[in-house]
Amino acid sequence: MRSLEELLNESSASHGHRCAGQVLGVRLAMAGCREVGIDEPKGCKKLVVLVEIDRCATDAIQAVTGCSLGKRTLKFLDYGKMAATFVNTETQRAVRVLAKDNARELARLFAPGAATPGEAQKQAYAAMPEELLFSIQPARINIAEENMPGFRGVRVICASCGEGINLRREVRVGERTLCIPCAQGSLSSGAASGDRPKVILIVGYKKVGKTTLIERLIPELSSRGYRVGTVKHHHSDFPVTVDTAGTDTWRHRQAGAASVALATPTDIAMFRDNENSVSLDEIVLALGATDIVLVEGFHEEARAKIEVLADRMDEPLCKMDSNLLAVVTPSARETTVPTFEPTNIKPLADLIEREILGNPGFSGVTQNSNVEIPSVSQLPGR
Ligand SMILES: [Zn+2]
Ligand SMILES: [Zn+2]
Repeated sequence: MRSLEELLNESSASHGHRCAGQVLGVRLAMAGCREVGIDEPKGCKKLVVLVEIDRCATDAIQAVTGCSLGKRTLKFLDYGKMAATFVNTETQRAVRVLAKDNARELARLFAPGAATPGEAQKQAYAAMPEELLFSIQPARINIAEENMPGFRGVRVICASCGEGINLRREVRVGERTLCIPCAQGSLSSGAASGDRPKVILIVGYKKVGKTTLIERLIPELSSRGYRVGTVKHHHSDFPVTVDTAGTDTWRHRQAGAASVALATPTDIAMFRDNENSVSLDEIVLALGATDIVLVEGFHEEARAKIEVLADRMDEPLCKMDSNLLAVVTPSARETTVPTFEPTNIKPLADLIEREILGNPGFSGVTQNSNVEIPSVSQLPGR
């Protein structure tokens, strides 16, 4: 393997500047190649690298290894972690190299004279012993046939948008073969762009009409082209058993399975332990492709919420909550937020569309664009 300085010059030239990320990425790539027994990675054709972040260091890994997206030897896993897994496809040896979180703080000790933290990291990452910079673990990676460099598959046509799909990326939905964005419900841009679904809490005292409001919002939002999911929070005053004693899924759980899925031709039901109080985010993600999730309950969560109020006497449950977006109530009252009649659902859906879904109001036209719009966190410079 060539020297750190030589590789650093090369990677900085192709990246455009020499930054701390270049130093870290070059060293990470050197360690990874060494661990999987590849001394001269460029042009060796047996190395595949899975990077977990798109930042400066990723360019350095690409420069050192010669792996690239176009050659299908570089795979991008969008995890936001400063880590990469190196796979020798000949020997099947794989290691994951993770940059240690405290390397940043340690950098100051290794470059005491540096003027700025960035400069300190740049100097220190070149000098620090590898065990302070990285944790290196063996990994088990099975690269599927269609993800291997050189794979040639049959191109198929998406039954919805008519565009060609390569590399076995098509999905079967019922009888139809679809591209991934169409399968995710690309009628609205949210699901197509891979953004997380938007969440709104429908909160209020017991028996004020939260479920009724949700029942009215679902068809209204669906008719505007959004895929709607719901979550119901049930307080544990008395336990609810969804699965029936004696069924096969019940027996799976009795035998100790932490998660059980029941799949029928028309429905999927999941049963899962909630001993560690799974977060609302995790529950929402488990719902699959949705644009908006209406959550009944969870009023303590610091998220946008709409409160349903039954009669004139009640003080809003979320009166002091800055996340309160609107109050739904049959009687006129003084509030700091807009109020809506429970049966007048269109103006409330307009508000949700504007404030939660970020669309300027109902146009009557559903979007059908498959262009991937990156979310803010995916734009350069973040
Ligand atoms: Zn950089
Ligand atoms: Zn399609």
